[in-house]
Amino acid sequence: MAKGLVWFRTDLRLDDNPALNAALNKCQEVLAIYIFSHSQWDAHNESNIKHEFLINNLIVLKESLEKLGIPLIAINTESYKTLPIDLSSFSSEQKIDHAFWNNEFGLNEINRDLASVEALKKKNIESSSFDDQVVYEPGFLKTGQGKPFSVFTPFKRRWIENFEMNFLDIEEPLELKKSSPIRSDISALKFVKNNSVNIDLWPAGEDAARDRLENFLQLKVKSYSESRNSPIIDGTSRISPYLALGILSPKRCILEGLKLNNFEFTSGNKGICKWIDEIVWREFYRNIMHSFPKVSKNLPFQDYTASIQWRHSKEELKAFYAGKTGFPIVDAGIRQMLSEGWMHNRLRMIVAMFFTKNMLHDWRLGEKFFMQHLIDGDFSSNNGGWQWSSSTGTDSAPYFRIFNPITQSQNFDPSGEFIKKFIPELKDIPIAQIHQPKDDLFLSADYPSPILDLKESRIRAIQAFKDAREESGI
Ligand SMILES: Cc1cc2nc3c(=O)[nH]c(=O)nc-3n(C[C@H](O)[C@H](O)[C@H](O)COP(=O)(O)OP(=O)(O)OC[C@H]3O[C@@H](n4cnc5c(N)ncnc54)[C@H](O)[C@@H]3O)c2cc1C
Repeated sequence: MAKGLVWFRTDLRLDDNPALNAALNKCQEVLAIYIFSHSQWDAHNESNIKHEFLINNLIVLKESLEKLGIPLIAINTESYKTLPIDLSSFSSEQKIDHAFWNNEFGLNEINRDLASVEALKKKNIESSSFDDQVVYEPGFLKTGQGKPFSVFTPFKRRWIENFEMNFLDIEEPLELKKSSPIRSDISALKFVKNNSVNIDLWPAGEDAARDRLENFLQLKVKSYSESRNSPIIDGTSRISPYLALGILSPKRCILEGLKLNNFEFTSGNKGICKWIDEIVWREFYRNIMHSFPKVSKNLPFQDYTASIQWRHSKEELKAFYAGKTGFPIVDAGIRQMLSEGWMHNRLRMIVAMFFTKNMLHDWRLGEKFFMQHLIDGDFSSNNGGWQWSSSTGTDSAPYFRIFNPITQSQNFDPSGEFIKKFIPELKDIPIAQIHQPKDDLFLSADYPSPILDLKESRIRAIQAFKDAREESGI
């Protein structure tokens, strides 16, 4: 009688879970495992709020799996190096015949999985892996010259040209033939209470994720094109934390969106098309991570930018990390992340551009700061977003296109409501002055003076990029 093991990673759900379905299909008895490594979590700069969210979701997953007759067991391992041995020892102790998992595409994760296949093989245990995070396996779509795409628009065009509706076929979870007599045990997971973010903003579990998705699709998606750039309007889905841990699958999101739009990607409702575009951006950045491993090695996509002379000011960094730069829209964005674990996309761009251009600080420091605080921290999207904003990446903002945070603030938070929500010191400041730092006014409001001059810092950034280009002979 075949005994299967489903190794859960960033796919903490029953819906649209090909590894789980394959195990249920092939095996009479199935166990599930989650393997946590604290040092790996820290090495990847993952946040405390994401850790708390992970544990809450594992608790819900455990209950759902138990209803199917599948026990969930959590174990700890030292690092990705020790994981394959721990996985294979567990599997052989439990007399597993076949292990199943869904692929992750990071460089470390790929190496970990290759080593796991080998370790299992030594114990005569088969393994099978599946794709659940993407519609096309990363690297599958190629340009006319057979090269990986490095620009989003042609990538998306090819994505749509090759698309067939059956790519979104989602199997119903199957029935298990025999309940396992083993008891679930996830007590090995040490619960870390984050002290800054209210976790109630992020209810755990697939049902909560589906409610959020349905609510967004019913009430908000049709005006997404217009409202997605206003941080005070709750006009985006806020499903990124659920996608990051795989509580919800991207295929499910695309499918539910398409159902509302007569299965059209490019015509019909603008809001739905735009929203699906964003999910394809996520897939695009996974392709970049796969096809250009240098981005996983702390290197910029654009080689010449490696020689940019980044500044390093302890005072400026301290002000930035605390949301006290003296630029209200930047500070409001940072404070949103510190208090909610999430930041609106428009603000992520404004904040990242301010950090890398006006402050002229290394994008890798900003990338790390975001990972350490976001509940939706996702290596490829975060790296892609930071490299886009700093003009070091693929398909980036040109280096001379530098957002002016005051104009951005006037355009995207015209009433200053968002600023006032996150910067209570400014609640009595008249709208006319809310975007524009003014020393005397802001000092009296217990709000810091601006840490830099926008005009001068803009010129300094452009010069730094020009110098790097000259040095590389561009
Ligand atoms: C500097 C910077 C850092 C970022 N870091 C992350 C990160 O760590 N994790 C993360 O999930 N996203 C990141 N993003 C992308 C984007 O800001 C978030 O995905 C989005 O704000 C999540 O909110 P939402 O779920 O309401 O998005 P919606 O607007 O509802 O979009 C739906 C989904 O599409 C995907 N998506 C949307 N925009 C992007 C984008 N620009 N790039 C890639 N995928 C996108 C997300 O999975 C998102 O949940 C970053 C962007 C920037 C500029």
